[in-house]
Amino acid sequence: MLLQVKDLSVNYGVIQAVKGINFEVNEGEIVSLIGANGAGKSTTLHAISGLIRPKAGKILYNDREIQKESSQKIVSGGISQVPEGRHIFPGLSVMENLQMGAFLRKDRDKVKKDYANIFERFPVLEERKNQDAATLSGGEQQMLAMGRALMAAPKLLLLDEPSMGLAPIFINEIFDIIEEIKRNGTTVLLIEQNAAKALSIADRGYVLSVGKIVLSGTGAELLSNDAVQKAYLGG
Ligand code: ATP
Repeated sequence: MLLQVKDLSVNYGVIQAVKGINFEVNEGEIVSLIGANGAGKSTTLHAISGLIRPKAGKILYNDREIQKESSQKIVSGGISQVPEGRHIFPGLSVMENLQMGAFLRKDRDKVKKDYANIFERFPVLEERKNQDAATLSGGEQQMLAMGRALMAAPKLLLLDEPSMGLAPIFINEIFDIIEEIKRNGTTVLLIEQNAAKALSIADRGYVLSVGKIVLSGTGAELLSNDAVQKAYLGG
């Protein structure tokens, strides 16, 4: 098991955002967390990437507890997050944004190869590599945010709402790219409000509701589940 979340609880002051959840991610999987606005999805990701300290519970990565580690140590250990809303660095070029992703790496030869891989996967980023990142479209910025996270050479990629605010054509492309990332050996934990798309590419999924996991199963099982259909798929 690559990641194991055990009895995780996270509070913001008196608000209990995540209430004792358990789930796991195996190496090579796409695992999707779905749920309505405010269900606790982003909070869960932030706890894994070290941006928020849990109130209780454990996060095991390769059997090692990481819930008290710094974000920097967690990234160096192979977990990289693409935040909601992308958060690319405006004022820096596309290339400089990608370089930020590789900032903690020491394997310089491999880094060079990885730039080539990123440009192969996202040709638009190579075309625009000298352009200010702020001038990219929403879909291109999402690709840049994913490229930047991949430049950290993660074993586990955390994706927070990658389809948010994108035109349908970009949404399909982003989901194709996520599947390709998996094929290339990176494990993916995907958070989405677009439950239909997320479950259609997920090996397994969990449904979060008001801070708790209320359902789990394979992507296909959840897609055909009546409660999921009603609550999240408009069926
Ligand atoms: P969304 O898709 O809207 O981001 P989510 O499922 O990711 O939803 P979270 O963002 O994790 O949900 O929020 C879970 C709960 O925690 C919500 O009730 C939210 O209002 C609250 N919350 C999130 N961030 C903070 C914060 N910084 N301070 C206080 N409460 C917060």
